[in-house]
Amino acid sequence: MSDKFDVIVVGGGLVGAALALALDKQGKRVALVEGQAERFDALEEGWDARIYAVSPANRAFLQQLGAWPDASRLGVIGSMDVRGDQGGQIAFSAADAGAEALAWIAENRWMLATIWQRLQQASGVTLLSGVRPQLLRHNAREAAIVLDDGRELQAQLIVGADGANSWVRQQSGIAASIKPYGHSGVVANFACAKPHGNIARQWFLGDGILAWLPMPGNRISMVWSTSQPEPLLALDGARLAAAVAAAGDHALGELTLLSPAAAFPLRLITPDNVIAERVALVGDAAHTVHPLAGQGVNLGFQDAARLAAVLAGARDCGEWLTLRRYERTRKEAVRTMQLTCDALFQLFHAKQAPGLAWLRNAGLNLTNRLPLIKKQLARHAVGF
Ligand SMILES: Cc1cc2nc3c(=O)[nH]c(=O)nc-3n(C[C@H](O)[C@H](O)[C@H](O)COP(=O)(O)OP(=O)(O)OC[C@H]3O[C@@H](n4cnc5c(N)ncnc54)[C@H](O)[C@@H]3O)c2cc1C
Repeated sequence: MSDKFDVIVVGGGLVGAALALALDKQGKRVALVEGQAERFDALEEGWDARIYAVSPANRAFLQQLGAWPDASRLGVIGSMDVRGDQGGQIAFSAADAGAEALAWIAENRWMLATIWQRLQQASGVTLLSGVRPQLLRHNAREAAIVLDDGRELQAQLIVGADGANSWVRQQSGIAASIKPYGHSGVVANFACAKPHGNIARQWFLGDGILAWLPMPGNRISMVWSTSQPEPLLALDGARLAAAVAAAGDHALGELTLLSPAAAFPLRLITPDNVIAERVALVGDAAHTVHPLAGQGVNLGFQDAARLAAVLAGARDCGEWLTLRRYERTRKEAVRTMQLTCDALFQLFHAKQAPGLAWLRNAGLNLTNRLPLIKKQLARHAVGF
């Protein structure tokens, strides 16, 4: 095995794996280092509670890579119905944006398995799973990592796709601001008594944000951002289903739990930079956002698509000017999404300010009556 690569990608989650595949399509020599030893290309029975609302732009990216899951596992968001905590409401649909769908709901496990199955056939990618880097060396001329089994890998560029607690980010000396929201995202899947009609429903509850996302058949996936995840996790299946149905005004009738609930702490992470000498960050290593807009992995896929695009014509993948182009192309989109999600979260959780509850609900109702703004919202949701 050669120990010299064009690019080493550390982290084989959705974003790192998609990037490795995109670079393979360009004929690059890539090493993908994934710390976990589990089989990412294997599928499991049942429905994964970790799901993503994938934007049309990212569906196109994954389709180009031949890594889009089977239609039988995909939900479609045709429209959105968002409710405030005091009677506010806004609804918009794919038709407002002239699009086929606002987003597709795909399970984490199925997307990961689809990408890793393609990676198994990718001749330019060396897959190294169950190993972690111990040492990172990088300067203007070269970059290398030493793995915990003693192997040294060299490359023109090292990409950190190793998630929110990125080791690559820390080792390359990139400082990051980390702001905990004091909320966790509780996720679970349910069968619902009434058809969901391909509508994504969201409630800003005052003390939390609840989302029901349509899955294939009469199933929904829930993401509940709450400061009190423990009481929800302590409920048995029937009681949790009843609590979730009540929080959503029984909009889909009785719910039945399909997968055990899990909770993820929510944080806003903003690194000072997403590049260093011969290092670039993508995905959650480069940014996290509150999941209220379902945009985390979407931003990450766009990082992968843009980094692959700037590297396509590069003779030296780690050249500083090339990395600066990547940084520039992503900065505004990422910052805008982080600020928007953060502002919405703060708006619906700042209870103490007098009149704010009225203002935020009136704002939703007003926006709902402005067709041009609604169209913009819908177009933003599909990634135009
Ligand atoms: C509750 C919740 C709901 C969400 N819902 C949505 C949604 O609807 N839509 C959306 O777009 N986003 C959503 N997100 C965000 C989304 O989960 C993340 O943005 C996405 O998983 C990031 O992917 P990634 O590949 O960058 O990182 P990760 O998925 O964290 O993958 C990182 C990989 O790197 C590996 N790794 C870590 N450290 C090392 C190391 N030192 N060496 C080698 N390998 C390493 C890990 O094992 C892992 O495989 C949600 C997040 C939460 C918490």
